[in-house]
Amino acid sequence: MTDYSDNRYFELFEKQKLNQFAIGRTTYKERIKKLNRLKEALEVTYKQDIREALFKDFKKPQLEVDLTEIYPVIDEINFVKSNLKSWLKKQKVDTPIALLGSSSWIRHEPKGVCLIISPWNFPVNLSFGPLVSAIAAGNTVILKPSEMTPHTSKVMHAIIKDLYDENDIALVEGEVEVSQALLKLPFNHIFFTGSPQVGKIVMKAASAHLTSVTLELGGKSPVIIDDTSHIDKAVKKLIFGKFVNAGQTCIAPDYVFINDAIKPAFIAAFKKHIIAFYSETPSASNSYGRIVNEKHFKRLKGYLDDAISRNAEIAVGGISEEKDHYIEPTLVFDVSEDSELMQNEIFGPILPVKTYTNIQEVIDYINSKGKPLALYIFSKNKKQINTIIKNTRAGSTCINHNLLQFLNHNLPFGGSNTSGIGKSHGYFGFLEFVNQRSVLKQHTISAVDLLLPPYTNFKQKIVDLTIKWF
Ligand code: NAD
Repeated sequence: MTDYSDNRYFELFEKQKLNQFAIGRTTYKERIKKLNRLKEALEVTYKQDIREALFKDFKKPQLEVDLTEIYPVIDEINFVKSNLKSWLKKQKVDTPIALLGSSSWIRHEPKGVCLIISPWNFPVNLSFGPLVSAIAAGNTVILKPSEMTPHTSKVMHAIIKDLYDENDIALVEGEVEVSQALLKLPFNHIFFTGSPQVGKIVMKAASAHLTSVTLELGGKSPVIIDDTSHIDKAVKKLIFGKFVNAGQTCIAPDYVFINDAIKPAFIAAFKKHIIAFYSETPSASNSYGRIVNEKHFKRLKGYLDDAISRNAEIAVGGISEEKDHYIEPTLVFDVSEDSELMQNEIFGPILPVKTYTNIQEVIDYINSKGKPLALYIFSKNKKQINTIIKNTRAGSTCINHNLLQFLNHNLPFGGSNTSGIGKSHGYFGFLEFVNQRSVLKQHTISAVDLLLPPYTNFKQKIVDLTIKWF
């Protein structure tokens, strides 16, 4: 057996391992009490601290903090509170005739000691959201938030320390090395949210212990706007979806396909709504955030410069300011396929547009890439919408809007292959953190008992009849 005693998180891990059965035995009422404490911290005690920390980290506007960081976690808690009792009940299943005399059920038992690794772009939402599911399922948790939003990580650390014992739930701050050390430990489940590149590292590390994983990854999420859509309304919604959080959203529209015929109307609507949302000078707007750090600013500026050097045309925006990590909402046409903008997930406020004449070109293009985390369709043409959905694959789709699919906890949230493995939110998030244990109880004599060795011709006949009739 591997010796982990020199791992700096060994003691913490061992404490949780020892405590996991006590936590696993907690009733739904005790779990809800734990969730209520988190709810109060977010709603009241630490709300202002969270807002201030996110402003320090990347000038995230207060309304966006409330709407995209605090509200989704509270909503997740409320959803769990309404449903946890029934989720934890033993789930009876039917008994086939051949097994008469028995009854069977599924027990949703906690996986045990879980690791949650979260990204920086919605640090509170994407750390505490999965934590809610893990608590609901009765696990102990070590949470490692991103090093790129240190002010927010510090507040989250204070919240966790204030609310929970570390042998139940702990948060460890630190650089990538912290994740690397944690990933060596034999967790029972790892819930990772981040880039596909790091997702592969996590999956490889998990394979050493056959630890199950949920990977909430990213990629390029396309938008299709056809000539039957209401262009003005579609563009208004698109601008919200793309530029909220300054474009640093996993399900943000990454690039747009528009029907050739609507190009002039699309550009006009884009200019109009950018001014309406963020004024003529978005850098002075309280509604527009910043790029998280210099590294990501330089990455995005590099993508834009690269596209321009390959003859891309900026239709709107294009201004940036390094010392403020500011990039103006930017719309680009004629972006060459081999440019950085089209080869990588953009994850920032730059929106390339491609034009098409035939929807099959769009479908073929999308299918030539990894399965997107989200695919958006703006159209009034039901047949066209169905054709696109049936002939493509994606983690989620929102029709005539964008991002909103994330907010419905009755829907599973997650990707497929390159954009992720497993799902989060509501019941689907709860399922990631439980083992669905099958239980069969024999009450009376079982038909199978009649077939035990020695095998005779009579027993063979019973088997033949069973196969034929049951
Ligand atoms: P990232 O993959 O760089 O980092 C995520 C976490 O992994 C951080 O906590 C970081 O400390 C850790 N990490 C980084 N490198 C590591 C390594 N070599 N070994 C072990 N751990 C490591 O992602 P990010 O930049 O924080 O976030 C952006 C990415 O996350 C984008 O691709 C985005 O699409 C994706 N994302 C996905 C979702 C989703 O729900 N599917 C949500 C938000 C972000």
